[in-house]
This record gives sequence, structure tokens and C-alpha cells, in this order.
Amino acid sequence: MKKAVVIFSGGQDSTTCLIKALSEFDEVHCITFDYNQRHKEEISVSCNITKELGVTFHKIMNIELLNELTVSSLTRDNIKVTNETKENKFPTSFVPGRNILFLTLAGIYAYQINAETIITGVCETDFSGYPDCRNEFIKSMEKSLQLGMDKTIKIEAPLMYLTKAETWGLAEKYNKLDFIKEKTLTCYNGIISDGCGECPACILRKKGFDSFIKNKV
Ligand code: ZN
Repeated sequence: MKKAVVIFSGGQDSTTCLIKALSEFDEVHCITFDYNQRHKEEISVSCNITKELGVTFHKIMNIELLNELTVSSLTRDNIKVTNETKENKFPTSFVPGRNILFLTLAGIYAYQINAETIITGVCETDFSGYPDCRNEFIKSMEKSLQLGMDKTIKIEAPLMYLTKAETWGLAEKYNKLDFIKEKTLTCYNGIISDGCGECPACILRKKGFDSFIKNKV
């Protein structure tokens, strides 16, 4: 039996990964991390999505410690979410070590349920320049999990080299374009579907959607 663990936030990217995984694996487990993030609605949105898609296994993991340890616009309400980098190399929304932690916990979970694959929606293209979204990091993390647990666990990142427009194309391929457009939450201000329209995540999502529609006609 082929089992996969999907790191699932209820956003466009991880929902697209989940839909793809449901068509490819016999058993799909979702993990959603609760770190008291700025967009707390992620938790309820992700639960609604897994329910609608008929996902049997959905675990919410509490990792509030991450919030305590890091200062980022995603973990602090008083820091504005921007793509500006200022004196720091990274956008204010960068949470250091987030994907290292997510993948480590997903790896432990995968080990326990004997799943051979972890799926993450991280993407090098079109993105805010987070170092833990790069393929080089994913490959290195995969190697670390394999060495550290002496188990063959693969990390799949199917969106790694896709543009946002191509990710919308993938949603259409699985006949879930409307579902993803209406049910997912990408907005940093916690507004479902098209969102607030003003934060960097909404702007990126809309730009990708417009380009997807334009390329279709
Ligand atoms: Zn927004």
C-alpha cells in the first residue's frame, strides 16, 4: 500500500498537492501545523477542505514553540507583512527553520505510519526568496531524514519549478480549479478565496491566476 504524508496548510499550493496525492496514493495523511500563526484561520480552512475531499487522516500538530522562538510577520501581529528585505536578507514573513521543523515532524510521522513519501507544496519559482523553499534544501533534508532514521523516505515537491499560473493549470487538470479558487486560504490577512487583494500572498495568487487565464485564451 502506497502511503503519503502531505504537509497541509489549506492554501492553494498544498491543496493542489493534496488533490494530486489523492489520485496517486492509496492512503493520504495530512498534517497541519498550528503555531499560532498570524493567519489562524488556516486551521479551520484546512479542516473543511480535508473533510470535503474525504481525507480520513488529518492531524493538527501544535508547535506553538515556533512562535515563541521566532520573530516574523507571520508569527507577530505587530510586524507588517511585506516583501521588502531591508537590512535583513529576507522578507519580514520569513520564519527561520520553519520548513526544517515541518519536514522533521512530518518525517517522524511518516516513519511511525510507515509512509514512504512526504509531500510539500514548496516552490522555488515565483516565490518570496525563502531559502527553505529551494530544491537544494529539500534534497538535503531528504538525505538527513534517510540517514537519521535509516529509512527510505522521499520528499516530493511537485510544485518546485512551477509558476503560480502553472499551479492553477494543475488544479484544472484535476478538475478542481473552482474548488481551489473558492475554498483555499492564501491571504496573510486570513480571508478565504480571493483574499484581501492587497497582501503579497494575494497579489502573487492573483497575478498567477490572471496569467493562467490569459494563457488559456
Ligand atoms: Zn491578502
